[in-house]
Amino acid sequence: MSDRRAGELSPHPEVRVVAIDGPAGAGKSTLAESVAAHLGVERLDTGAMYRAVAWSALTHHVDVTDAEAVARLARTMEIDVGERVVVNGEDATVAIRSIDVDRAVSAVAANPAVRSELVARQRAWVAQRGRGVVEGRDIGTVVLPDADVKIYLTAATETRARRRARQRDDGRSVEAVHDDLVRRDRLDSTRLASPLPSPEDVATDAKVIDSTGKSSRAVLEEVLACL
Ligand code: C5P
Repeated sequence: MSDRRAGELSPHPEVRVVAIDGPAGAGKSTLAESVAAHLGVERLDTGAMYRAVAWSALTHHVDVTDAEAVARLARTMEIDVGERVVVNGEDATVAIRSIDVDRAVSAVAANPAVRSELVARQRAWVAQRGRGVVEGRDIGTVVLPDADVKIYLTAATETRARRRARQRDDGRSVEAVHDDLVRRDRLDSTRLASPLPSPEDVATDAKVIDSTGKSSRAVLEEVLACL
């Protein structure tokens, strides 16, 4: 199986849109990248969009709990999420992964006006391309309920915390990353607007994959088997 470039003939022409949902650290980004390469399509990391809004609010000293002000900011921001994350012309790729953004992003993502703005942009991204791999929390349930393939990727909390700590390598202990992750999972799954579903409540047409103890290659093979 070789990675494919955009423009090459897809091995699965009938698969146009793949939705990958799941909690932080489950391995969504790695999986989304590999699936997109396999299909020869682009991928959209919707978490990066919520992070971009949170980062912008922190940078402009906008209180993240001020729903009106954050919504206004979201509506007027230019966010370009690709290889790099560019916000109003400024490269924020690294800055949106800071601990401060980790802590602020759940409040921003719980804001219904921010969600409706970003969901509209996410749908427009897919409509423009006609194809793509989109990862997030509510893609298969809310953003793209008609996606051709829906994956819900999960993993044991300890595994997710270890992966996140390794990825970030910012000096935080696995325990500290674990506590932040549990806190973010709780906020993401108990908010009123489009909460992160538990594996039992995911879209009924989604395939649930538990990546605990599996290599990224093994997870990719499971997904390719559903295409
Ligand atoms: O995926 P990532 O951990 O970067 O997402 C950051 C945050 O953005 C999540 O904790 C969640 O609050 C929010 N998010 C969301 N809906 C999405 C993607 C991310 O609410 N589709």
